[in-house]
Amino acid sequence: MKAVCVYCGSSNGAKPLYRDAAKAFGRALVAANLSLVYGGGKVGLMGVIADEVMAAGGRAIGVIPELLVDKEVGHDGLSELHVVPDMHHRKKMMANLSDAFVALPGGAGTLEELFEVYTWAQLGYHHKAVAVLNIDGFYDPLISLLGHTVQEGFMRQAYFDILQIDTDPAALIAKLQRYQPPVADKWADRRERV
Ligand code: AMP
Repeated sequence: MKAVCVYCGSSNGAKPLYRDAAKAFGRALVAANLSLVYGGGKVGLMGVIADEVMAAGGRAIGVIPELLVDKEVGHDGLSELHVVPDMHHRKKMMANLSDAFVALPGGAGTLEELFEVYTWAQLGYHHKAVAVLNIDGFYDPLISLLGHTVQEGFMRQAYFDILQIDTDPAALIAKLQRYQPPVADKWADRRERV
């Protein structure tokens, strides 16, 4: 693994511990000799993690659409900043540059990005790890909803298990490094039944 894509809030969140977690995850990436790939902004937890990675002597690569350069304040102190035409180019480039995906706390944008790569893993479009840093139980409601989708027969346990979860940055990075994708794709059991 060379680079980890981090999705996180363009806001700081209600508690200082979210900023602390973004900093800790940034330092853990640098300690593991991994580059940060992220949305390229200076605002919210996005800016916090990028600043921490750069301050710790690491490598931060931003990918930002033209329209958001002003709104999310394109970061001018990164190792690389790619300005792309739109959101679709952003997400594709972030995915191509990364060997794993991690969501820190965030809002709808963070969840959308997380679910896109999670569902791509389920469909077999990529075989990279997808994870959440579950700081202060932030992702407990989401994990419980996903468990409910398994219980109610809408998702296989193997696809629930794709999602790597930890409260500790270094432990989560270790899980990314050990990750083995499921052997069968989402449609295997359906093909067997037809
Ligand atoms: P949020 O979690 O809503 O603060 O958003 C975090 C990041 O997700 C910001 O950089 C947003 O620009 C980005 N974002 C929001 N919606 C999308 C989307 N549909 N595709 C890709 N990125 C998005």
